[in-house]
Amino acid sequence: MNVLVINCGSSSLKFQLIDAETENLIAKGLCERIGIEGSRLVYSPTGGEKITIQDDMPDHTKAVQMVLDALTNAEYGVVKSLDEIGAVGHRLVHGGEKFACSTIITDEVIEAIKECNDLAPLHNPANLIGIDACRKLMPNVPMAGIFDTAFHQTMPEEAYLYGIPYSYYEKYCIRRYGFHGTSHLYVSQRAAEMLGKTPEECKVIVCHLGNGASISAVKNGKSVDTSMGMTPIEGLIMGTRCGDIDAGIIEFIAHKEDKNIDDIMKILNKESGVLGVSGGLSSDFRDLEDAYAQEGDVVGHRTLRTFSYKVAKYVGAYMVAMNGVDAICFTAGVGENGPIVRDMVCEYLGFMGVELDAELNSKRGQDLIISKNENGPKVMVIGTNEELMIARDTYKLVK
Ligand code: ADP
Repeated sequence: MNVLVINCGSSSLKFQLIDAETENLIAKGLCERIGIEGSRLVYSPTGGEKITIQDDMPDHTKAVQMVLDALTNAEYGVVKSLDEIGAVGHRLVHGGEKFACSTIITDEVIEAIKECNDLAPLHNPANLIGIDACRKLMPNVPMAGIFDTAFHQTMPEEAYLYGIPYSYYEKYCIRRYGFHGTSHLYVSQRAAEMLGKTPEECKVIVCHLGNGASISAVKNGKSVDTSMGMTPIEGLIMGTRCGDIDAGIIEFIAHKEDKNIDDIMKILNKESGVLGVSGGLSSDFRDLEDAYAQEGDVVGHRTLRTFSYKVAKYVGAYMVAMNGVDAICFTAGVGENGPIVRDMVCEYLGFMGVELDAELNSKRGQDLIISKNENGPKVMVIGTNEELMIARDTYKLVK
Protein backbone atom coordinates (compact mmCIF):
# COMPACT_ATOMS: atom_id res chain seq x y z
CA MET A 1 0.00 0.00 0.00
CA ASN A 2 1.25 3.49 -0.88
CA VAL A 3 0.94 6.00 1.96
CA LEU A 4 0.98 9.74 1.34
CA VAL A 5 2.65 11.49 4.28
CA ILE A 6 1.65 15.12 4.76
CA ASN A 7 3.37 17.68 6.98
CA CYS A 8 1.34 20.86 6.68
CA GLY A 9 2.44 24.27 7.98
CA SER A 10 0.69 27.63 7.71
CA SER A 11 2.22 28.49 4.32
CA SER A 12 4.00 25.29 3.34
CA LEU A 13 3.20 21.63 2.80
CA LYS A 14 5.81 18.86 2.69
CA PHE A 15 4.87 15.45 1.38
CA GLN A 16 6.31 12.01 0.71
CA LEU A 17 4.72 9.05 -1.04
CA ILE A 18 6.05 5.85 0.54
CA ASP A 19 5.42 2.21 -0.35
CA ALA A 20 4.55 1.00 3.15
CA GLU A 21 5.35 -2.65 2.39
CA THR A 22 8.85 -2.15 1.00
CA GLU A 23 9.35 1.17 2.86
CA ASN A 24 10.71 2.65 -0.37
CA LEU A 25 10.29 6.36 -1.06
CA ILE A 26 8.38 6.84 -4.31
CA ALA A 27 8.31 10.65 -4.53
CA LYS A 28 8.61 13.67 -2.29
CA GLY A 29 8.21 17.40 -2.48
CA LEU A 30 7.29 20.70 -0.99
CA CYS A 31 4.67 23.38 -1.66
CA GLU A 32 5.96 26.80 -0.68
CA ARG A 33 4.34 30.20 -0.22
CA ILE A 34 0.76 28.90 0.00
CA GLY A 35 -1.55 31.92 0.13
CA ILE A 36 1.34 34.21 -0.81
CA GLU A 37 2.38 35.52 -4.22
CA GLY A 38 5.02 33.39 -5.96
CA SER A 39 3.83 29.98 -4.74
CA ARG A 40 5.43 26.86 -6.19
CA LEU A 41 5.62 23.11 -5.92
CA VAL A 42 9.01 21.43 -5.91
CA TYR A 43 8.47 17.78 -6.83
CA SER A 44 11.08 14.98 -6.80
CA PRO A 45 10.11 11.53 -8.07
CA THR A 46 12.61 8.91 -6.86
CA GLY A 47 15.13 8.27 -9.63
CA GLY A 48 13.72 11.13 -11.73
CA GLU A 49 14.54 14.77 -12.13
CA LYS A 50 13.42 17.43 -9.66
CA ILE A 51 10.67 19.59 -11.16
CA THR A 52 9.49 23.03 -10.05
CA ILE A 53 5.90 23.92 -10.90
CA GLN A 54 4.96 27.60 -10.46
CA ASP A 55 1.24 28.25 -10.02
CA ASP A 56 -1.05 30.23 -7.74
CA MET A 57 -1.88 28.39 -4.51
CA PRO A 58 -4.47 30.59 -2.82
CA ASP A 59 -5.14 27.86 -0.24
CA HIS A 60 -4.05 24.41 0.95
CA THR A 61 -6.73 22.62 -1.08
CA LYS A 62 -5.09 23.94 -4.23
CA ALA A 63 -1.69 22.88 -2.90
CA VAL A 64 -2.89 19.32 -2.25
CA GLN A 65 -4.54 19.28 -5.68
CA MET A 66 -1.22 20.21 -7.28
CA VAL A 67 0.56 17.47 -5.35
CA LEU A 68 -1.99 14.88 -6.49
CA ASP A 69 -1.78 16.14 -10.09
CA ALA A 70 2.01 15.81 -10.01
CA LEU A 71 1.89 12.30 -8.53
CA THR A 72 -0.53 11.15 -11.27
CA ASN A 73 0.94 13.18 -14.15
CA ALA A 74 1.30 11.12 -17.35
CA GLU A 75 4.85 12.34 -17.97
CA TYR A 76 6.53 12.60 -14.56
CA GLY A 77 3.95 11.05 -12.20
CA VAL A 78 4.63 7.92 -10.14
CA VAL A 79 1.16 6.36 -9.94
CA LYS A 80 -1.50 5.87 -12.61
CA SER A 81 -4.40 7.13 -10.54
CA LEU A 82 -5.33 8.21 -7.03
CA ASP A 83 -6.62 4.67 -6.42
CA GLU A 84 -2.98 3.75 -5.87
CA ILE A 85 -2.83 5.92 -2.74
CA GLY A 86 -4.16 3.65 0.02
CA ALA A 87 -3.92 6.02 2.97
CA VAL A 88 -2.76 9.45 4.10
CA GLY A 89 -0.70 10.02 7.27
CA HIS A 90 -0.74 13.52 8.74
CA ARG A 91 1.93 14.88 11.03
CA LEU A 92 0.26 16.67 13.93
CA VAL A 93 2.16 18.75 16.44
CA HIS A 94 0.18 18.72 19.68
CA GLY A 95 -2.11 15.98 20.93
CA GLY A 96 -2.07 17.17 24.55
CA GLU A 97 -3.05 14.39 26.97
CA LYS A 98 -5.76 13.21 24.58
CA PHE A 99 -3.50 11.29 22.21
CA ALA A 100 -0.91 8.84 23.52
CA CYS A 101 -0.62 7.11 20.15
CA SER A 102 -1.42 7.59 16.47
CA THR A 103 -5.05 7.44 15.49
CA ILE A 104 -7.41 7.13 12.52
CA ILE A 105 -8.86 10.56 11.74
CA THR A 106 -12.61 10.89 12.25
CA ASP A 107 -14.87 13.88 12.89
CA GLU A 108 -14.56 13.22 16.66
CA VAL A 109 -10.77 13.09 16.42
CA ILE A 110 -10.71 16.41 14.58
CA GLU A 111 -12.79 17.98 17.35
CA ALA A 112 -10.39 16.56 19.96
CA ILE A 113 -7.39 17.95 18.04
CA LYS A 114 -9.07 21.37 17.95
CA GLU A 115 -9.32 21.22 21.73
CA CYS A 116 -5.50 21.03 21.80
CA ASN A 117 -5.11 24.14 19.59
CA ASP A 118 -4.54 26.32 22.63
CA LEU A 119 -1.36 24.39 23.36
CA ALA A 120 0.07 24.88 19.83
CA PRO A 121 -1.71 27.89 18.33
CA LEU A 122 0.73 28.26 15.44
CA HIS A 123 0.96 24.61 14.45
CA ASN A 124 -2.23 22.65 15.13
CA PRO A 125 -4.60 24.88 13.10
CA ALA A 126 -2.23 24.61 10.12
CA ASN A 127 -2.10 20.81 10.49
CA LEU A 128 -5.90 20.72 10.54
CA ILE A 129 -6.11 22.78 7.35
CA GLY A 130 -4.00 20.07 5.68
CA ILE A 131 -6.37 17.35 6.90
CA ASP A 132 -9.36 19.31 5.66
CA ALA A 133 -7.83 19.80 2.21
CA CYS A 134 -6.99 16.08 1.87
CA ARG A 135 -10.44 14.99 3.02
CA LYS A 136 -12.04 17.26 0.41
CA LEU A 137 -9.96 15.82 -2.42
CA MET A 138 -9.74 12.19 -1.26
CA PRO A 139 -12.99 11.64 0.66
CA ASN A 140 -12.76 7.83 0.58
CA VAL A 141 -9.11 7.43 1.54
CA PRO A 142 -8.48 6.55 5.20
CA MET A 143 -6.30 9.02 7.08
CA ALA A 144 -4.26 8.79 10.25
CA GLY A 145 -2.89 11.45 12.60
CA ILE A 146 0.60 11.02 14.07
CA PHE A 147 1.39 13.37 16.96
CA ASP A 148 4.79 14.85 17.88
CA THR A 149 3.76 14.68 21.53
CA ALA A 150 2.29 11.15 21.65
CA PHE A 151 5.52 9.17 22.21
CA HIS A 152 6.27 11.20 25.36
CA GLN A 153 2.91 10.50 26.99
CA THR A 154 4.61 7.66 28.90
CA MET A 155 6.64 10.18 30.95
CA PRO A 156 5.96 9.72 34.65
CA GLU A 157 4.33 12.47 36.68
CA GLU A 158 7.60 13.56 38.29
CA ALA A 159 9.04 14.22 34.82
CA TYR A 160 6.07 16.09 33.39
CA LEU A 161 4.99 18.31 36.28
CA TYR A 162 6.32 21.85 36.68
CA GLY A 163 7.02 23.43 40.02
CA ILE A 164 4.02 25.76 39.77
CA PRO A 165 0.58 25.60 41.40
CA TYR A 166 -0.98 22.21 40.65
CA SER A 167 -4.28 23.95 39.90
CA TYR A 168 -2.77 25.20 36.61
CA TYR A 169 -2.25 21.60 35.57
CA GLU A 170 -5.82 20.77 36.55
CA LYS A 171 -7.37 23.86 34.95
CA TYR A 172 -5.23 24.40 31.85
CA CYS A 173 -3.23 21.17 31.41
CA ILE A 174 0.02 23.09 31.97
CA ARG A 175 2.64 20.33 32.09
CA ARG A 176 5.55 19.07 30.04
CA TYR A 177 4.56 17.27 26.81
CA GLY A 178 7.72 17.12 24.69
CA PHE A 179 7.99 17.15 20.89
CA HIS A 180 9.90 15.44 18.04
CA GLY A 181 8.33 12.22 19.38
CA THR A 182 8.25 10.54 15.98
CA SER A 183 11.99 11.12 15.58
CA HIS A 184 12.83 9.99 19.13
CA LEU A 185 10.82 6.81 18.59
CA TYR A 186 12.38 6.04 15.20
CA VAL A 187 15.95 6.66 16.36
CA SER A 188 15.58 4.73 19.64
CA GLN A 189 14.22 1.71 17.74
CA ARG A 190 17.03 1.90 15.20
CA ALA A 191 19.58 2.16 18.02
CA ALA A 192 18.22 -1.03 19.59
CA GLU A 193 18.50 -2.72 16.19
CA MET A 194 22.14 -1.57 15.89
CA LEU A 195 22.84 -2.93 19.39
CA GLY A 196 21.32 -6.25 18.32
CA LYS A 197 18.61 -5.97 20.96
CA THR A 198 14.89 -5.27 21.16
CA PRO A 199 13.79 -1.76 22.26
CA GLU A 200 12.42 -3.35 25.46
CA GLU A 201 15.97 -4.35 26.43
CA CYS A 202 17.64 -0.94 25.99
CA LYS A 203 18.23 2.39 27.63
CA VAL A 204 18.77 4.97 24.90
CA ILE A 205 19.38 8.73 24.96
CA VAL A 206 18.38 10.41 21.70
CA CYS A 207 19.86 13.85 20.94
CA HIS A 208 17.71 15.34 18.16
CA LEU A 209 19.82 18.37 17.28
CA GLY A 210 18.32 20.36 14.42
CA ASN A 211 17.16 23.92 14.20
CA GLY A 212 14.76 22.87 16.92
CA ALA A 213 16.53 20.55 19.35
CA SER A 214 15.44 18.12 22.05
CA ILE A 215 16.82 15.16 23.98
CA SER A 216 14.91 12.17 25.28
CA ALA A 217 15.49 9.31 27.65
CA VAL A 218 13.97 6.13 26.20
CA LYS A 219 13.88 3.22 28.63
CA ASN A 220 12.60 -0.18 27.51
CA GLY A 221 11.12 1.40 24.38
CA LYS A 222 9.24 4.13 26.28
CA SER A 223 10.01 7.82 26.67
CA VAL A 224 10.60 8.56 30.36
CA ASP A 225 11.79 12.15 29.98
CA THR A 226 12.43 14.74 27.28
CA SER A 227 13.81 18.24 27.25
CA MET A 228 11.03 20.20 25.50
CA GLY A 229 8.09 21.11 27.65
CA MET A 230 4.57 22.42 27.24
CA THR A 231 5.94 24.27 24.23
CA PRO A 232 9.09 23.69 22.17
CA ILE A 233 10.98 26.59 23.77
CA GLU A 234 12.13 24.59 26.83
CA GLY A 235 15.30 22.53 27.09
CA LEU A 236 18.37 22.80 24.91
CA ILE A 237 19.72 25.97 23.35
CA MET A 238 18.40 25.83 19.76
CA GLY A 239 18.87 27.69 16.49
CA THR A 240 16.95 30.74 17.69
CA ARG A 241 15.09 29.51 20.81
CA CYS A 242 16.60 30.10 24.23
CA GLY A 243 15.87 26.74 25.89
CA ASP A 244 15.92 26.65 29.71
CA ILE A 245 16.33 30.07 31.29
CA ASP A 246 15.66 31.65 34.67
CA ALA A 247 12.01 32.79 34.52
CA GLY A 248 13.11 35.97 36.32
CA ILE A 249 14.95 37.10 33.17
CA ILE A 250 11.62 37.83 31.48
CA GLU A 251 10.65 40.47 34.00
CA PHE A 252 14.19 41.85 34.11
CA ILE A 253 14.38 42.46 30.35
CA ALA A 254 10.84 43.84 30.29
CA HIS A 255 11.83 46.55 32.78
CA LYS A 256 15.25 47.29 31.34
CA GLU A 257 14.13 47.51 27.72
CA ASP A 258 10.53 48.63 28.23
CA LYS A 259 9.10 45.61 26.41
CA ASN A 260 5.82 43.74 26.68
CA ILE A 261 5.35 39.98 26.90
CA ASP A 262 4.88 39.54 23.14
CA ASP A 263 8.15 41.40 22.43
CA ILE A 264 9.99 39.24 24.93
CA MET A 265 8.58 35.96 23.64
CA LYS A 266 9.65 37.01 20.16
CA ILE A 267 13.19 37.63 21.42
CA LEU A 268 13.27 34.28 23.24
CA ASN A 269 11.87 32.35 20.27
CA LYS A 270 13.45 34.10 17.30
CA GLU A 271 16.51 36.05 18.43
CA SER A 272 18.02 33.78 21.06
CA GLY A 273 19.57 30.29 20.88
CA VAL A 274 22.91 30.00 19.09
CA LEU A 275 21.94 33.05 17.02
CA GLY A 276 21.76 35.05 20.24
CA VAL A 277 24.81 33.53 21.94
CA SER A 278 26.88 34.17 18.80
CA GLY A 279 25.95 37.85 18.98
CA GLY A 280 23.80 37.54 15.86
CA LEU A 281 26.38 35.70 13.74
CA SER A 282 24.11 32.83 12.67
CA SER A 283 21.50 30.29 13.71
CA ASP A 284 23.02 27.84 11.23
CA PHE A 285 25.60 25.47 12.65
CA ARG A 286 27.49 25.40 9.36
CA ASP A 287 28.34 29.08 9.82
CA LEU A 288 29.27 28.53 13.45
CA GLU A 289 31.54 25.60 12.56
CA ASP A 290 33.18 27.76 9.87
CA ALA A 291 33.74 30.51 12.42
CA TYR A 292 35.12 27.97 14.90
CA ALA A 293 37.62 26.74 12.33
CA GLN A 294 39.17 30.20 11.94
CA GLU A 295 42.28 30.90 13.95
CA GLY A 296 41.73 32.99 17.06
CA ASP A 297 37.96 32.71 16.74
CA VAL A 298 36.07 33.54 19.93
CA VAL A 299 32.44 33.57 18.86
CA GLY A 300 32.28 30.09 17.29
CA HIS A 301 34.03 28.59 20.32
CA ARG A 302 31.78 30.32 22.80
CA THR A 303 28.62 29.34 20.97
CA LEU A 304 29.40 25.70 20.18
CA ARG A 305 30.82 25.16 23.67
CA THR A 306 27.72 26.63 25.37
CA PHE A 307 25.42 24.57 23.16
CA SER A 308 27.37 21.32 23.66
CA TYR A 309 27.74 21.75 27.41
CA LYS A 310 23.98 21.92 27.73
CA VAL A 311 23.53 18.78 25.64
CA ALA A 312 26.06 16.93 27.81
CA LYS A 313 24.31 18.10 31.00
CA TYR A 314 21.03 16.61 29.75
CA VAL A 315 22.78 13.35 28.86
CA GLY A 316 24.01 13.17 32.46
CA ALA A 317 20.54 13.94 33.79
CA TYR A 318 18.95 11.25 31.64
CA MET A 319 21.43 8.64 32.80
CA VAL A 320 20.06 9.37 36.24
CA ALA A 321 16.47 9.17 34.94
CA MET A 322 17.16 5.69 33.50
CA ASN A 323 19.76 4.45 35.98
CA GLY A 324 22.29 4.02 33.15
CA VAL A 325 22.44 4.14 29.36
CA ASP A 326 23.35 1.69 26.57
CA ALA A 327 23.47 4.10 23.62
CA ILE A 328 23.70 7.86 23.08
CA CYS A 329 22.39 8.75 19.62
CA PHE A 330 22.91 11.90 17.57
CA THR A 331 20.32 12.74 14.93
CA ALA A 332 18.76 15.58 12.84
CA GLY A 333 20.62 18.33 10.92
CA VAL A 334 23.39 19.05 13.42
CA GLY A 335 23.40 15.66 15.11
CA GLU A 336 23.88 13.88 11.79
CA ASN A 337 26.26 16.37 10.15
CA GLY A 338 28.13 18.16 12.92
CA PRO A 339 31.29 16.28 13.99
CA ILE A 340 32.56 19.21 16.06
CA VAL A 341 29.43 19.33 18.22
CA ARG A 342 29.44 15.54 18.67
CA ASP A 343 33.08 15.67 19.68
CA MET A 344 32.51 18.50 22.16
CA VAL A 345 29.53 16.77 23.76
CA CYS A 346 31.38 13.47 24.09
CA GLU A 347 34.43 15.12 25.67
CA TYR A 348 32.25 15.74 28.72
CA LEU A 349 31.30 12.06 28.79
CA GLY A 350 34.84 10.71 28.98
CA PHE A 351 34.41 9.93 32.70
CA MET A 352 32.10 7.05 31.80
CA GLY A 353 34.45 5.59 29.26
CA VAL A 354 33.05 7.27 26.14
CA GLU A 355 35.72 7.81 23.51
CA LEU A 356 34.98 8.78 19.91
CA ASP A 357 36.76 7.27 16.94
CA ALA A 358 37.83 10.44 15.10
CA GLU A 359 37.68 8.83 11.66
CA LEU A 360 34.21 7.38 12.17
CA ASN A 361 33.04 10.69 13.65
CA SER A 362 34.02 12.45 10.42
CA LYS A 363 31.89 10.15 8.20
CA ARG A 364 28.54 11.27 6.79
CA GLY A 365 25.39 9.76 5.39
CA GLN A 366 25.23 6.39 7.14
CA ASP A 367 24.05 5.06 10.49
CA LEU A 368 27.17 4.29 12.50
CA ILE A 369 28.56 3.51 15.93
CA ILE A 370 31.26 6.20 16.30
CA SER A 371 32.64 5.34 19.76
CA LYS A 372 35.60 3.01 20.17
CA ASN A 373 35.06 2.04 23.78
CA GLU A 374 34.11 -1.61 24.24
CA ASN A 375 32.72 -1.01 27.69
CA GLY A 376 30.34 1.80 28.51
CA PRO A 377 27.64 3.28 26.30
CA LYS A 378 27.93 3.25 22.52
CA VAL A 379 27.72 6.60 20.71
CA MET A 380 25.76 6.46 17.45
CA VAL A 381 24.90 8.68 14.51
CA ILE A 382 21.48 7.78 13.11
CA GLY A 383 19.65 9.50 10.25
CA THR A 384 16.16 10.29 11.48
CA ASN A 385 13.17 9.46 9.28
CA GLU A 386 9.97 10.91 10.67
CA GLU A 387 8.10 10.42 7.42
CA LEU A 388 8.83 6.69 7.39
CA MET A 389 7.62 6.42 10.97
CA ILE A 390 4.40 8.23 10.00
CA ALA A 391 3.93 5.88 7.02
CA ARG A 392 4.53 2.82 9.26
CA ASP A 393 1.98 3.94 11.84
CA THR A 394 -0.57 4.89 9.18
CA TYR A 395 -0.17 1.53 7.45
CA LYS A 396 -0.52 -0.35 10.76
CA LEU A 397 -3.71 1.53 11.61
CA VAL A 398 -5.30 1.26 8.18
CA LYS A 399 -4.42 -2.40 7.67
P1 ADP B 1 14.64 21.47 11.52
O1 ADP B 1 13.97 20.23 10.96
O2 ADP B 1 14.47 21.67 12.98
O3 ADP B 1 14.43 22.71 10.72
P2 ADP B 1 17.10 20.16 10.68
O4 ADP B 1 17.09 18.86 11.41
O5 ADP B 1 16.87 20.16 9.22
O6 ADP B 1 16.20 21.22 11.41
O7 ADP B 1 18.52 20.84 10.98
C1 ADP B 1 18.82 22.08 10.43
C2 ADP B 1 20.15 22.53 10.98
O8 ADP B 1 21.14 21.53 10.76
C3 ADP B 1 20.65 23.73 10.23
O9 ADP B 1 20.24 24.92 10.86
C4 ADP B 1 22.13 23.59 10.32
O10 ADP B 1 22.58 24.39 11.38
C5 ADP B 1 22.39 22.13 10.63
N1 ADP B 1 23.18 21.49 9.58
C6 ADP B 1 22.76 21.03 8.40
N2 ADP B 1 23.80 20.54 7.68
C7 ADP B 1 24.89 20.71 8.46
C8 ADP B 1 26.28 20.43 8.30
N3 ADP B 1 26.73 19.87 7.19
N4 ADP B 1 27.12 20.73 9.31
C9 ADP B 1 26.66 21.28 10.45
N5 ADP B 1 25.38 21.60 10.65
C10 ADP B 1 24.50 21.32 9.68
